[in-house]
Amino acid sequence: MALDPETFDTLIDTIRRFVAERLRPLEGEVEEADAIPAHIIAEMKELGLFGLSIAEEYGGLGLTMLEECKVAVELGRTTPAFRSTFGTNVGIGSQGLVMAGTAEQKSEWLPRIASGEVVASFALTEPDVGSDSGSVKTRAVKDGDIYRLTGTKRFITNADKAHVFTVMARTGEETGGRGVSAFLVPRDLPGISIGEPEKKMGQKGAKVADVVFDDTPVPASLRLGAEGEGFKIAMQVLDRGRLHISAVCVGVAERLIADC
Ligand SMILES: Cc1cc2nc3c(=O)[nH]c(=O)nc-3n(C[C@H](O)[C@H](O)[C@H](O)COP(=O)(O)OP(=O)(O)OC[C@H]3O[C@@H](n4cnc5c(N)ncnc54)[C@H](O)[C@@H]3O)c2cc1C
Repeated sequence: MALDPETFDTLIDTIRRFVAERLRPLEGEVEEADAIPAHIIAEMKELGLFGLSIAEEYGGLGLTMLEECKVAVELGRTTPAFRSTFGTNVGIGSQGLVMAGTAEQKSEWLPRIASGEVVASFALTEPDVGSDSGSVKTRAVKDGDIYRLTGTKRFITNADKAHVFTVMARTGEETGGRGVSAFLVPRDLPGISIGEPEKKMGQKGAKVADVVFDDTPVPASLRLGAEGEGFKIAMQVLDRGRLHISAVCVGVAERLIADC
């Protein structure tokens, strides 16, 4: 366990109270406004929720996967849009960096991701690439000490507010996952545009949108892992994400049973 049992119990109690007393009363407002109130995001930062899974040396809480899942169950007891606010920082947006980043990449980005100053998103899915995620078509072409990224990513959670994306793009000629590499791509690089948020059936307050790269010059120093390792990194990130989301679903189901 990353935290001693007493500290972890206190964390769970704090989050349970935060959900019951601060978040649940705002569910109607979030549904109506399709947005999470700024004062709640500030409280989430105060509680350390953006850094649940990031090591203490980078300013996070350094929870283990089991501890993260126990927290996720608590967060499932309210509209999942609240969790999505910091969910990409805890999971899919940060974990590629945690797993495959260099010391320099980690110290540059992880403290700001853990504090919530930086919002991190994960960009794998494309208009024609979903479940068959090894088929990514977005290309990253090496040009000296940069890669030029071109392609469209679809359904990217928090794309509208992200400062940095973990992007999977094809660097090799091999078909399937073998030719895919992962990159940290800061939002402020040239040639990046964000689409209008999708009109979804649910989860009001959590936005997904296209991210379009048009000859975006990404420094080679921002590649995560070696060339060709991107698909493996993405799958390892999603392994953790699936456990986290399953735990959220347990909380959602318990709430449904309790409320019916
Ligand atoms: C709310 C939301 C947030 C998301 N956030 C992100 C994000 O942050 N980053 C990101 O990269 N992506 C994100 N996604 C995209 C998500 O990962 C994809 O939707 C998912 O991978 C499925 O792809 P698809 O929608 O193209 O469906 P498809 O792959 O087209 O699948 C459609 C249906 O066909 C079935 N199917 C697919 N292949 C087969 C097969 N071979 N045999 C039998 N059945 C099959 C599937 O099970 C599914 O029921 C998000 C999606 C949603 C809805």
